[in-house]
Amino acid sequence: MDIFKNLKEKVFEANIRLKTEGLIVLTWGNVSAIDREHEVIAIKPSGIPYHLLKPEQIVIVDLKTSAPIVENGLAPSSDTPTHLELYRNFPEIGAIVHTHSTYATVWSQACMEIPPLGTTHADTFSTPIPCTRPMNKEEIMSDYELNTGKVIVERIKGTNPLHCPAVLVSHHGPFTWGITPENAVENAVILEQVAQMAILTRQLIPTISNIPGTLLLKHFQRKHGPHAYYGQSSSRK
Ligand SMILES: [Zn+2]
Repeated sequence: MDIFKNLKEKVFEANIRLKTEGLIVLTWGNVSAIDREHEVIAIKPSGIPYHLLKPEQIVIVDLKTSAPIVENGLAPSSDTPTHLELYRNFPEIGAIVHTHSTYATVWSQACMEIPPLGTTHADTFSTPIPCTRPMNKEEIMSDYELNTGKVIVERIKGTNPLHCPAVLVSHHGPFTWGITPENAVENAVILEQVAQMAILTRQLIPTISNIPGTLLLKHFQRKHGPHAYYGQSSSRK
């Protein structure tokens, strides 16, 4: 019996959803999730087209050694070291999504954080969406994917990652996360919408100010934290 069957199925479904939500073209994205009890992650295999992907092809990787521990003959996503670095540093994170969704990637390529301009942003993100510093030559030339994880950790260390479940990697693209794979994909969808809206709003008024802080906090806190009251109580995170 495969004790990771359920985890693989959840990760498979979340990967397929990246495609159906229109967040990725070709194979430019991946979803992983962690089983903290067994200290393993499940992640998309490298380079398999989405229309051919099957749940049993999801790769299980050891959190500590980074080695695939259940051999199905497939290599994990090349971005696996980035995912592992985030799981090792942030115990709150249960699943991670990486895409090259167009508008979030535009901000990443510009090496700019996404400012909070309205309540759509504030409902999910309590701060601007941070952008990492550019990586130096050594970081790019050796252990590139691991170092991508390290610059993300460097940028968001000391914050609660669930209060802003997204980051932009400069010159590259977005990573989002959540408690579950569904939650992490939903945050990737919201991030893309927020990124598009911010660009359009800046086109209308290039000098637009951020949403007032009181309104930002009001919207974030009514959905998150101890005083949340939006939606049904079982769906609040
Ligand atoms: Zn990428």
